[in-house]
Amino acid sequence: MAQPDPHVQLTPLGAEPDFNETIQSIHTTLRRFANDVMRPIGQKLDRMTPEQVSAPDSPLWSVHRQFDELGFDVDSLLAMEPAERARVMCVMYEELGWGDAGLAISLAVNSLPLLMATLMGSEFGRQVAKSAKSGCWMITEPDHGSDSLDPSRQIFHPQGAYGRPNCVVTIQGDEIVINGQKSAWVSNGTIAEVGVLYAAADTGNGPDTKHGAVVIVPLTAKGVSRGKPLDKIGQRALNQGEIYFDNVRLSKEHLIAGPDRFLEATYLIHAFANGLMGATFAGCARAAYDLAHAYVHERKAGGVPIIRHQSVAHRLFHMYAKVEAACAVTRRVVHYNFEAPQMSLKSAMVAKITGTQAAFDVASAALQLHGGNGLTRDYPIEKIFRDARASLIEDGCNEILAIKGGYSLANPDLLRP
Ligand SMILES: Cc1cc2nc3c(=O)[nH]c(=O)nc-3n(C[C@H](O)[C@H](O)[C@H](O)COP(=O)(O)OP(=O)(O)OC[C@H]3O[C@@H](n4cnc5c(N)ncnc54)[C@H](O)[C@@H]3O)c2cc1C
Repeated sequence: MAQPDPHVQLTPLGAEPDFNETIQSIHTTLRRFANDVMRPIGQKLDRMTPEQVSAPDSPLWSVHRQFDELGFDVDSLLAMEPAERARVMCVMYEELGWGDAGLAISLAVNSLPLLMATLMGSEFGRQVAKSAKSGCWMITEPDHGSDSLDPSRQIFHPQGAYGRPNCVVTIQGDEIVINGQKSAWVSNGTIAEVGVLYAAADTGNGPDTKHGAVVIVPLTAKGVSRGKPLDKIGQRALNQGEIYFDNVRLSKEHLIAGPDRFLEATYLIHAFANGLMGATFAGCARAAYDLAHAYVHERKAGGVPIIRHQSVAHRLFHMYAKVEAACAVTRRVVHYNFEAPQMSLKSAMVAKITGTQAAFDVASAALQLHGGNGLTRDYPIEKIFRDARASLIEDGCNEILAIKGGYSLANPDLLRP
């Protein structure tokens, strides 16, 4: 094992100037949880079928339960002053992503219904969200993936039209009625007890996909059913699946944003989620880097540990630089967004693209440094590589975010909520 540099001792978070005592202790707690609970269970879940992952006796539930016991719930985090909350959330998601990226996302989406009900000022929605143990965010649809993340239509082809939505919320008097379905990609889709639904709204003039509705939906409600858990190559510990709505009737109190506030609610959840994706996958990048660092000191080729070959040291340094850059930009963006009166979605997209691209690049370079061993299931790097690959699509394909961000550089008004 390499010894720490005796002259310049960085913090476990790298060149982090704000590593105060609170953050140090939170980091220690979360690193223990990530290492002792998430990693072994994540590796086990990765080898299981999607049905086994979401079964009542799945070890997944132990991760959820033990994380809840740590006390990092939405209300405690929102009670912190913004700069401290930003530090805590970045360290937290970096460590969860270091432990297991798919499980980190499962834990993150659990909290989204309560977070959105709180941000939109709905006490009723908060109570519904708090009565459930697990949550999800239902936005994408089978016929509308990238489209449903772009309600203001910035990425649309000039001759393109949205077409029929797959899910519609009809608002009539004191009641809302939900019909249709959301995509197989909804994280925690087949296991969540409550969800925050973003869908087209019909107030009497047909479905409006630009000015939709955001609803807190108890997923035990009559008329809700689920699809089969999705089988996929990366983040296999993350349960995903369709949610169907057949005349689901709820009181209007469940509506946390009507058509007039739909764009605001869409902007807010993306600004939050993109920042957390940046932190999670910066942590995933660090996990890949750490594995590579250990391996190049153990593996011998050409008569020496491979770290002594110049090209290996050079590659490892570039991986280290990518991890540092991803963490730095994410922490800066989340800090800015928590303190600013209006979050910056453009900056959050920078964090998402930088963190996830770093995770993919570093995992790919780490796999290469493992040689043939990297391709086998005997070494954990191939799983991290698959997990990181999924992140380039998750929460909005990176190229779609870059198109939206690029247009907003020319016209800042385009990204306004
Ligand atoms: C791990 C994971 C977790 C997820 N979690 C959730 C969740 O919790 N809730 C939820 O609702 N959804 C979730 N998703 C869905 C995710 O947001 C979508 O997969 C993503 O937005 C892309 O949509 P799509 O898969 O339909 O691809 P499409 O939109 O069909 O895109 C296909 C390809 O076409 C390109 N493309 C599309 N439109 C344009 C355009 N206008 N200009 C240029 N190129 C374009 C895309 O970049 C992409 O390469 C998740 C996905 C993953 C992988």
